[in-house]
Amino acid sequence: METKSTTLSTPSNFIKNIVIEDLKSGKVSQVITRFPPEPNGYLHIGHAKSICLNFELADDFKGLTNLRFDDTNPVKEDTEYVESIKADVAWLGFQWDGLFFASDYFEEMYNRALVLIRKGLAFVDDQTADEIRETRGTLTQPGLDSPYRGRSIEENLALFERMRAGEFKDGERVLRAKIDMSSPNINLRDPIIYRVVHAHHHNTGDAWCIYPMYAFAHPLEDAIEGVTHSLCTLEFEDQRPFYDWVIQECEMPNVPRQYEFSRLGLTNTVMSKRKLKQLVDEKAVDGWDDPRMPTISGLRRRGFTAEAIRNFVRELGVSKGGGGSVVDARMLDHFIREDLKLKAMRTMGVLNPLKVVITNYPEDQVEMLDMENNAENPEMGNRQIPFSREIYIEQDDFMENPPNKYFRLFPGNEVRLKNAYFIKCNDFIKDENGKVVELHCTYDVETKSGSGFTGRKVKGTIHWVDAKSAVPAEFRLYEPLILDNQEDEDASFLENLNPNSLQIVQGFVEDNMKQAQPHDKFQFFRHGYFNVDPKYTTSDKLVFNLIVSLKSSFEV
Ligand code: ATP
Ligand code: MG
Repeated sequence: METKSTTLSTPSNFIKNIVIEDLKSGKVSQVITRFPPEPNGYLHIGHAKSICLNFELADDFKGLTNLRFDDTNPVKEDTEYVESIKADVAWLGFQWDGLFFASDYFEEMYNRALVLIRKGLAFVDDQTADEIRETRGTLTQPGLDSPYRGRSIEENLALFERMRAGEFKDGERVLRAKIDMSSPNINLRDPIIYRVVHAHHHNTGDAWCIYPMYAFAHPLEDAIEGVTHSLCTLEFEDQRPFYDWVIQECEMPNVPRQYEFSRLGLTNTVMSKRKLKQLVDEKAVDGWDDPRMPTISGLRRRGFTAEAIRNFVRELGVSKGGGGSVVDARMLDHFIREDLKLKAMRTMGVLNPLKVVITNYPEDQVEMLDMENNAENPEMGNRQIPFSREIYIEQDDFMENPPNKYFRLFPGNEVRLKNAYFIKCNDFIKDENGKVVELHCTYDVETKSGSGFTGRKVKGTIHWVDAKSAVPAEFRLYEPLILDNQEDEDASFLENLNPNSLQIVQGFVEDNMKQAQPHDKFQFFRHGYFNVDPKYTTSDKLVFNLIVSLKSSFEV
């Protein structure tokens, strides 16, 4: 193959190099990959790494990628998860070729298990789960043969058929591969390949009461679909010998190969579906799509774009290095800022409003001021915003007794109102608790923005919203969900939830925001990027999620 002339859309990595070799040697004629989620939860950003890797690898070589649900465990799986996974993969920008369910292959898997039994390579074991675990041995000690290991092929065939017919209770019998109880690889010590589970399955209903184990099912699924390169995370490296054994001994016509890459972890969050489900079930968050969750649906609701996620994942690259690649979550923030910089309209929003009366401004006058929609992207044009006698500014843009180098409003000081006039604070009003609730200022008509006024300078510029036309808005401000990354210390992550991970404030935005639709994204001056929340926004209430603040000390 002429690899030189192929423009590869994604950076090189060790898996890609293998594919190039396989195509060159003729071992593979068309690349087929798959993304194989178990529908037992929503997808997270770790899955995004696997999705991008599988789809982009096949795309680069004009191959195919299947979306395959690895639904071999009826107890934890649900169609709600199937639907959310399909939506998330599509939203990330990928279109699968085949859409498959592992459960559609149950009959074929059963037949392949029969192949093993007939070859004397599988047997029905009557031992309990505990007995099987206790006789498995350790890393330094071999395991013990099951007393049922010597059963005849006929007896095994009859028992396995009775397992399928529902004659045994859960856990009463299992089918095990017959390999080697003293193998240094524990995965080869007669692993269980079928178990009895009397449970309703989301796809096959009550057709089955025996279910294949993941390690047996997965290679068969790959082979049935003609997958050429089966990519998985590093913890499956020790499973590879069994993967190859299954393909060979079950006499699968297609031979897929497994390659492992390192898992993505992020700081200040949890990434396993089990833990994410716990957060949802215990109502520590507002569902799987809570904007603090590292799920694809949470990131989407927060305001992350598919493009930012894809760019982030691409930047990480693919490596075989272990060492648990835990990435600083601020790196993801960098990519969303980059993506929105030229796309998001820049607008004014006041999160903690303080009323300002401009006492020398004519009472019934409203004037329209010109404002760029994005100073860095002139193509986005300009808009007109109203200005009148009463406006809102941020509470912390005024201080009664300011420290040195405070250049915003305080008694006697003058500041610039963004794209409007200079105003000077003359007086303020406090409520009964001593809180400042209103400022009285005067403006200087000469200082109008754009008029070329050079008479004097002010050091501070603050944003504002016209009070009469302002639209009330709720702002949801986020901090990381988990205070420290406790991913490794199993149960304790719930105790490390950040109590300030969500703060809700009520403020105001410009009147032109009335038209904002769920998922519209804006940059509010001096605050950050925000997304119109699709869940809580209604026709008469705007809710904004903070996607990311404007600055971070972290750069890629
Ligand atoms: P979790 O532990 O979060 O439940 P999982 O591996 O059990 O993850 P699956 O639904 O089995 O979840 O995963 C589907 C695919 O996504 C697998 O190929 C898996 O290796 C990959 N994957 C899951 N988590 C990550 C991650 N953090 N980084 C990269 N790939 C991942
Ligand atoms: Mg899993």
